[in-house]
Amino acid sequence: MTKIVLLGAPIEAGAGRRGCVMGPNAFRTAGLAEELEALGHDVADLGDARPEEVTGIETDHTHLKQLDTVAGWTRALHSQAKKLARCDALPIYLGGDHALSAGTVSGHAALAAQEGRPLFVLWLDAHADFNTFASTQSGNLHGTPLAFVCGLPGFDSYLGGPVPAAVDPANVCILGLRSVDGEERRLLQSTNVIAHDMRAIDEHGIAPLLAEFLDRVQAANGLLHVSLDVDFIEPDIAPAVGTTVPGGATFREAHHVMEMLHDSGLVSSLDLVELNPFLDVKGRTARLMVDLTASLFGRRVLDRVTRSY
Ligand code: MG
Ligand code: MG
Repeated sequence: MTKIVLLGAPIEAGAGRRGCVMGPNAFRTAGLAEELEALGHDVADLGDARPEEVTGIETDHTHLKQLDTVAGWTRALHSQAKKLARCDALPIYLGGDHALSAGTVSGHAALAAQEGRPLFVLWLDAHADFNTFASTQSGNLHGTPLAFVCGLPGFDSYLGGPVPAAVDPANVCILGLRSVDGEERRLLQSTNVIAHDMRAIDEHGIAPLLAEFLDRVQAANGLLHVSLDVDFIEPDIAPAVGTTVPGGATFREAHHVMEMLHDSGLVSSLDLVELNPFLDVKGRTARLMVDLTASLFGRRVLDRVTRSY
């Protein structure tokens, strides 16, 4: 049995289109808490977080969209994540667009640093979200959180100062890439982030790529934050996302990742992001995300011996 807390983060300011504000309630409607309780876990829903009031941030990058609002969310979720990381419960952050991870990951990284443990990040996404304020073409800030938490320069306005504990890029693994901007690609390749695109998944299979990363987390006694973007999954089966890119993870690839994460027993926090219920078809994407989360927390067809919870 795992103690789990759910915290809604209804932010849509980072995305290019509206709708993610409804995400947390769609996860609730799709039965997330009930499914996890049915697996024997103790689930508490803390309701929705609220952003801090931030106004008047000055920036040379005038094309950035809703920077004040994103900064307000980053500060609020950073504080919440630091608090929740101290509890004995595993937090699941219900998005909300991917900008929320600037707050959650930086908060968990800060606490991990205080505890002297490395934080590893598994980023399941069609995109690298590794743009800086200078490199983003669209100005949509949900394309920036991974660059921010890895300590790339220029993000001081997010927390009103530098990120307190940057995640070591070598401890980040992106799985599922199939859309990276030109300058973003250069930034990514200038670090040692592990970035597996869909071609690598085609060539090697998703399991060995993930297993190699999980072995490193285990060997380092690391904490593991997982950030699951809906667009990691093939849009034919997960249409409720504003940034669909064809050729995503299949139903079984996505579930296999979750099953391996469960078996590893390493996951310490989780984001579920970019669900846009306005674009969904009879709730199927919300239900798939709930089913994937259930796989991460131990739903299985047959019992097997694992290292898990
Ligand atoms: Mg993303
Ligand atoms: Mg994405």
